[in-house]
Amino acid sequence: MRVIMLGPPGAGKGTQAARLAEHLSVPHISTGNILRRHVEERTPLGQRAQEFMNAGKLVPDELVIEMVEDRLAQSDARRGFILDGFPRTTHQAEALERITEVDHVLNFFLEPEALIKRSVGRRVCPKCEAVYHILSNPPRAADTCDRCGAALILRKDDTREVVEERVREFEKRTTPLIQFYRDRHVLREVYADGIIDEIAHRVLRAVKSHE
Ligand code: AMP
Repeated sequence: MRVIMLGPPGAGKGTQAARLAEHLSVPHISTGNILRRHVEERTPLGQRAQEFMNAGKLVPDELVIEMVEDRLAQSDARRGFILDGFPRTTHQAEALERITEVDHVLNFFLEPEALIKRSVGRRVCPKCEAVYHILSNPPRAADTCDRCGAALILRKDDTREVVEERVREFEKRTTPLIQFYRDRHVLREVYADGIIDEIAHRVLRAVKSHE
């Protein structure tokens, strides 16, 4: 199954993408995670992407498209994938259409006030990329990853100011994709407020009801 997670920052795409990928035994491909690894390893791509990411801006299309094309060419993506955070512009969606078909585009939506709260309370594991929330999904021991024991961090772009810019970028550049995929009859709406299990249930219902 080939699935795209679409939605604003803080909607819970990453958390749900990881769960759905495990459920379907397909890779979870997060462009944000791949880019953050490039930044950390100071690759040429990471060096170019870093300033855009820290400012809450989208990384230029040509950099991201090539990166996704390479990733989808790997053998584990042949059986399907969960794309999390890509495409984010019409240009990226058109490029993806030339690479692969998709079965479902899950449009995560929730009230705008909830987005900021979700993002600033998020803590991530820099080692295994697990995602937590200080109130709604806290780790068992404070600031420590349940899975691998690494110290959790606040992402540089999860401060209120940068999140607001990321939401603006989403509204300006990513929302046109809702109509783009509706026209292709693959858009499925997922209300993204509530507890993680409940939303995971909605995600499964959305993909199952269109099999
Ligand atoms: P995310 O982890 O999905 O919230 O992405 C974090 C940041 O990585 C975004 O704010 C962008 O700067 C960059 N990024 C991730 N995916 C893309 C994409 N498809 N196009 C452009 N920039 C992206």
